[in-house]
Amino acid sequence: TSYGFRQVAEGEKQHLVNDVFHKVAKRYDIMNDVMSGGLHRLWKDALVTTLNPRKDPSYKVLDVAGGTGDIAFRIIEASGRKAHATVLDINGSMLAVGAERAQKKGLSDNLTFVEANAEELPFQPNSFDAYTIAFGIRNVPHIDVALSEAYRVLKRGGRLLVLEFSEVGLPLLDRVYDEWSFKAIPQFGKMITGDSEPYQYLVESIRKFPNQENFAAIIRQAGFSRVTYTNYTGGIAALHSGWKL
Ligand code: SAM
Repeated sequence: TSYGFRQVAEGEKQHLVNDVFHKVAKRYDIMNDVMSGGLHRLWKDALVTTLNPRKDPSYKVLDVAGGTGDIAFRIIEASGRKAHATVLDINGSMLAVGAERAQKKGLSDNLTFVEANAEELPFQPNSFDAYTIAFGIRNVPHIDVALSEAYRVLKRGGRLLVLEFSEVGLPLLDRVYDEWSFKAIPQFGKMITGDSEPYQYLVESIRKFPNQENFAAIIRQAGFSRVTYTNYTGGIAALHSGWKL
């Protein structure tokens, strides 16, 4: 494409990402609705339906890059408020919004918020029944490291689910989507935070992220078995699944 990607150095990457989410934390949930036209809700619900969380209090989920807790809240509700979720994020501002929401929803007992890096999980091996990450892995500088960490902290028989923007396979949709993401999203970002550049970076990171097949291969390399994926909305998003067997 001729959009002129700016090269972002490895070390700068995490810094840029942190900058975006510190700025938008309070408005993040609204931004999600605006920028995805509400679609993120459907994709997230599909993740939770696929996970089918067990309705028992010993069921433990780790939601990485969990931000304001959106995925975790859905999982807990789907488990009949039985399961426990740990929401992990590198960004304290996002977690603070999540913790406040948890309190309002009366879900504080089902949730733990942890500020940490996906590349260095502060948990013992074999601790969780499931590891979820939604629209987060593409922001992590070393995907392979994050996936090995996922593998390490999952129990045997545990499941990995990764929801992420992916490669659009429909000829017309990909054009519309390019227009939307390269033009509209940075504009919204500017309107809401006063700065379009961090959003430009986020959109670019979608284009640089491996496509469905390549990402499935990376997940296999981290040790996961029975790796599959499902496209949503023509591949705008995809859900990858793997098991620690
Ligand atoms: N999962 C939530 C959702 O779907 O609404 C939040 C997704 S948000 C687009 C991406 C999140 O990834 C941000 O909250 C950001 O702070 C977090 N993040 C970025 N790099 C991270 C890292 N290295 N480790 C943990 N979280 C990270």
